[in-house]
Amino acid sequence: MYTIDLKKIEKHHTPFYLYDLKLLRSTLATIKKEIEGTPFIVHYAIKANANPVILKEIREAGMGVDLVSGNEVRAALDAGFATSGMAFAGVGKADWEIELALDNELYCLNVESSQELEVINAIAASMGKTACIALRVNPNIDAHTHKFITTGTDDNKFGFHLSEIDEIIHKALRLPNIHLRGLHFHIGSQIMSLEPYKMLCYKINELLDHYEQQGIHFEMIDAGGGLGVDYENPEQNTIAAFHDFFGLFKRELKLRPGQTVHFELGRSIVAQCGTLISQVLYVKKSPHKRFVILDAGMTCLIRPALYGAHHKIVNLTSTSQELELCDVVGPICESSDVFAAGTLLPATKRGDWVAILTAGAYGESMASCYNMRSLPASHFIE
Ligand SMILES: *Cc1c(COP(=O)(O)O)cnc(C)c1O
Repeated sequence: MYTIDLKKIEKHHTPFYLYDLKLLRSTLATIKKEIEGTPFIVHYAIKANANPVILKEIREAGMGVDLVSGNEVRAALDAGFATSGMAFAGVGKADWEIELALDNELYCLNVESSQELEVINAIAASMGKTACIALRVNPNIDAHTHKFITTGTDDNKFGFHLSEIDEIIHKALRLPNIHLRGLHFHIGSQIMSLEPYKMLCYKINELLDHYEQQGIHFEMIDAGGGLGVDYENPEQNTIAAFHDFFGLFKRELKLRPGQTVHFELGRSIVAQCGTLISQVLYVKKSPHKRFVILDAGMTCLIRPALYGAHHKIVNLTSTSQELELCDVVGPICESSDVFAAGTLLPATKRGDWVAILTAGAYGESMASCYNMRSLPASHFIE
């Protein structure tokens, strides 16, 4: 039985996100412990969850941030993060977003195309600034994750192909208003095996050796994010495999003196501390199915509809021993508005409270107002 004290939350209108701040704090403490005494720096990818209360906890833990839009830059500034810990990524930065980044002297802009590099140089020149950048390299490593969230293979839109990086590095070194800090990689998301990260370490070592021979030294390497979490057994695995993850990089990377290694972790920091709480509106039986219709839908949590993602669902009210096969669906006018098809729940009735687990990452931040729904509220437990 999942332990959420219904008495503490039943005064709130459903649906809403419930965040366990104690779990978030112990997750952050685990990361801090693993990187202590290393040249590793963690930037929280705020696209995973930009709830101001969550951002405050993460800032207080001393982390930097990874940003992918101008409004995320503003949110990070509002939350009080230091600009010296801000990395700004994304394939399509608009001019105003580049200006905002340069105005605030962010630690680094991660550059993804030759044209973008020229634009950043020109904007920096017009502002009398030097832009600190990293070049995003596509290392052609298959992260063996969902096709929509693999980002490091040759066929997707992110980064520079390995065959292009020689030229782009030399170009960055020539441009007068560019300061090249290093190389950036991000191979995908929800990566459950360490093997792709090992491949990434080998590739990074190879590139460092190669450029050292040309007398080029990088002050930093950004290994990206993507560490996966356990959606199947979230109650047993509340904290991601940070020890193994950072341990691998400690063992495998052959760093040069003074070099820092940056990580951009989103999901692994916030996924397990967030739960979507909903109530059952109706139980509808058709000849072949039993539909449990919730008051939360894909506008609250789109991951199942978008990626076919699995989230564990728990009935918080039912004490029945009898399991029923059902489809748990939302109220939105789309056939894909399904949280789980053919799942077993204890006998469920109208008014029951339901928890959808592991919803802290890419849940609230991807919520929409489709069907003119209200955005989900958020509440916190310590
Ligand atoms: C989304 C993203 C991340 C975070 O990925 P997670 O899987 O949430 O850890 C990090 N870096 C970049 C460039 C991203 O786009």
